[in-house]
Amino acid sequence: AENTSSNFIRNIIVSDLESGKHKEIITRFPPEPNGYLHVGHAKSILLNFGLAEEFNGKTNLRFDDTNPVKEDTEYVQSIEADVKWLGVTWDKVLFASDYFDEMYNCAVKLIQKGKAYVCDLTPDEMKEYRGSLTEPGKPSPYRDRSVSENLDLFERMKNGEFKDGEKVLRAKIDMSSPNMNMRDPIIYRIAHAEHHNTGNKWCIYPMYDFAHPLEDAIEGITHSICTLEFEAHRPLYDWVVEECEMTCKPRQIEFARLNMTNTVMSKRKLKLLVDEGVVDGWDDPRMPTIAGLRRRGYTPEAIRNFCREIGVAKADSTVDSQMLDYFLREDLQPKAPLTMAVLRPLKVVITNYPENQTEMVEVENNAKDESQGTRMIPFSREIYIEQEDFMEVPIKKYFRLFPGNEVRLKGAYFITCTDVIKDEAGHVIEVHCTYDPETKSGSGFTGRKVKSTIHWVDAASALPAEFRLFEPLILDDAPENEGKHFLEQINPNSLEILQGFIENVAFKSAKPLDKFQFVRNGFFTVDSKYTTDEKLVFNRIVALKSSFKL
Ligand code: ATP
Ligand code: MG
Ligand code: MG
Repeated sequence: AENTSSNFIRNIIVSDLESGKHKEIITRFPPEPNGYLHVGHAKSILLNFGLAEEFNGKTNLRFDDTNPVKEDTEYVQSIEADVKWLGVTWDKVLFASDYFDEMYNCAVKLIQKGKAYVCDLTPDEMKEYRGSLTEPGKPSPYRDRSVSENLDLFERMKNGEFKDGEKVLRAKIDMSSPNMNMRDPIIYRIAHAEHHNTGNKWCIYPMYDFAHPLEDAIEGITHSICTLEFEAHRPLYDWVVEECEMTCKPRQIEFARLNMTNTVMSKRKLKLLVDEGVVDGWDDPRMPTIAGLRRRGYTPEAIRNFCREIGVAKADSTVDSQMLDYFLREDLQPKAPLTMAVLRPLKVVITNYPENQTEMVEVENNAKDESQGTRMIPFSREIYIEQEDFMEVPIKKYFRLFPGNEVRLKGAYFITCTDVIKDEAGHVIEVHCTYDPETKSGSGFTGRKVKSTIHWVDAASALPAEFRLFEPLILDDAPENEGKHFLEQINPNSLEILQGFIENVAFKSAKPLDKFQFVRNGFFTVDSKYTTDEKLVFNRIVALKSSFKL
């Protein structure tokens, strides 16, 4: 099982099974369908599903859809697809909104027990009555309404007799509790809004702190794992389960949420990036969404290994986003076939190579694994090399192509630069070379050595392709802490689009999301959105090298 190397949550489960408190564990992953999942959710998914799998339990995928205004079936569908893609299997797909009747009945039960009341205070008044951390709250003037009056008003709330915000139902707990969450929290509010699942059946909706414990208890969840900010809500969670007399008493356990450098990790902020047009959708390859990472070429294996490495902690921290890239390289290196692509092409004409002749040369399929064999690629008189592999006036220690210098073409011949062709503005547009037929790779030639090997593609047979290179979308390492709005910290250079060429052979049957290692240029995948029958578009997943060490 994944992601469950000894951690404190695992220890709780082990002891609950050993003591016989539970025979089987049931966990849940409870996203609100108000946006696409991000890599932080992946951590929660792998934790919940990983624990259940390890202990032969079950995990429910439950949509926490109690807020009609922000939720949408597009999000429900994307979440299901993303959870599946991560490679976990759920026991049931459930919707919190299917429990609205049960939740309503629980609220009625609280009223009958004298544990809930209808309150008419305005939001401002309620805030004032609630007090502060240093000051106890004051009871609402509506706190002592009779049970029958409360039952009547709550039913009329349900029947739509009041406007949004006119009345709320509050739990009657303790206005002087040091825990602000216990000072008579709102448990139901009025919202005349259409719900993606229940339509117009309801105009009152339960608040998260009331709904969530009931959802867990109804489903028989044994361990309800959530992020740290809910720690102070736990007494209310337990209160709801207890006072509503639920037979299942789930245990809420909090862990630290995943934060990453150069990344915003909240659906609200990610939605803003989409709505403001900063990115081209939730699945933009620069987004930390699961859909974005998938389109970028990240693999479920890399994400799983990353989540396993960061583990589960009780204190918040920020992980270097390069750590995920590290696991990506580890995963891709053995799998992604080595291929030649030229991202910024410069044409080279080999003047002493016969016109209208093509020969096949042999190149390896994986630089670190001989067993993956070789393939034959065409070579002829005109080729493309990278612009950066030529300098008309070489700088110190530059060993690649320059006038008079000889280099090796990977898998082919030695070539020597003889001429430089420029346009009227003085830009180099073509380089002329001669080749030495004696020097063919694999021929055993040892006559002389060159200091540099460069990659190339055959101009006659190469396919044009677009390459998209990415940098972090967010510039600051700690956007939240600097008091700046994250939209002011967008990297203006997060996307670079290049038009170049790829060797033909490997790409006859390339499909979206196929992955390649382009010699010297990095790992790339075929973009699923912009690739057409006419043109392949590649996303750079990650560069080949990094200074990051685990
Ligand atoms: P967001 O603020 O991004 O919308 P959320 O917590 O409101 O996040 P939910 O849809 O309610 O999003 O989250 C579903 C589950 O995923 C919850 O159990 C939540 O605790 C967990 N989760 C969300 N973000 C992270 C994160 N960054 N790291 C770990 N778990 C997370
Ligand atoms: Mg939430
Ligand atoms: Mg949220």
